[in-house]
Amino acid sequence: MKRYQDKIVLVTASASGIGFGICQRLAEEGATVIISSRNQKNVDEAVQKIKSQGLKADGFVCHVGKKEHRDRLKAFIKEKFGRLDVLVLNAAVSTHFGSTLDTSEEQAAKMIDINIKSTFFMAKEYVDILTQNPNGGGLYKVGPSQPPQGNILIITSYTAYSPDTMIGIYSMTKTALLALTKVLAKELYDSNIRVNAIAPGLIRTKFAGSLLEHEDLAKETMKISRVGEPEDVAGCASFLCSGDASYITGETILVGGFVSNKL
Ligand code: NAP
Repeated sequence: MKRYQDKIVLVTASASGIGFGICQRLAEEGATVIISSRNQKNVDEAVQKIKSQGLKADGFVCHVGKKEHRDRLKAFIKEKFGRLDVLVLNAAVSTHFGSTLDTSEEQAAKMIDINIKSTFFMAKEYVDILTQNPNGGGLYKVGPSQPPQGNILIITSYTAYSPDTMIGIYSMTKTALLALTKVLAKELYDSNIRVNAIAPGLIRTKFAGSLLEHEDLAKETMKISRVGEPEDVAGCASFLCSGDASYITGETILVGGFVSNKL
């Protein structure tokens, strides 16, 4: 029995990297995954990659910072699927690499806008299409009698716990997502929507480009001495949004080779 059979999953910023890894994994487990990013060509290619394996995928362009894009994507999902079971809020930007005090107002505003504001507003706007149990309070039930659950998964970062001075404001935005995860989990408990987060460590993607240039230095900060792969994050995502994690909400799991998580 596939854990995500008949489930509809949306992952933002999923044409490549961690987002694509999560789509690939959940599609393998039976989900219909909706891939989205800013660029139509990237979306089409990613959808094709999943479909060519005989798995189920759809695609839709969405720049998470644009409300009209978020609205259009939601209308598409409502029309085509009628509901959403899992919403993975994965999009983020890092617009400045260097001393935190050298961050410009424009660079800081962009990171706050995409990493915090868009994550919050997308959760808020999409809650009404997420699977809910109007009776609520069923999170403690396990097994076949488990009530329907919607899931929100937020992708934060290990820098939420250990802010990196070269990416200071980015780290700050990721720390804010720890609080957002907790507060949404409390507020959505009664609707039977679980809200959890993953804090990836250093993962081999385009985004991590400048940090991967110092891969050997980075590895010294981890007990498991290798850079992570999108599949490492995807495995954790697949557990957290499944019924196997039905007793877990408001948590952030660090997937980072035992990198330090002390603030
Ligand atoms: P990535 O490989 O660079 O992938 C970025 C994806 O995001 C692309 O598909 C891109 O496609 C899309 N995208 C970029 N801006 C977007 C926007 N405004 N709206 C919608 N889509 C957008 O990045 P990644 O490493 O997988 O990062 C994913 C998440 O993991 C981020 O939240 C990041 O902060 C977090 N993270 C990553 C690492 C790491 O080491 N890689 C570590 C900790 C946390 P288009 O160009 O088509 O839009």
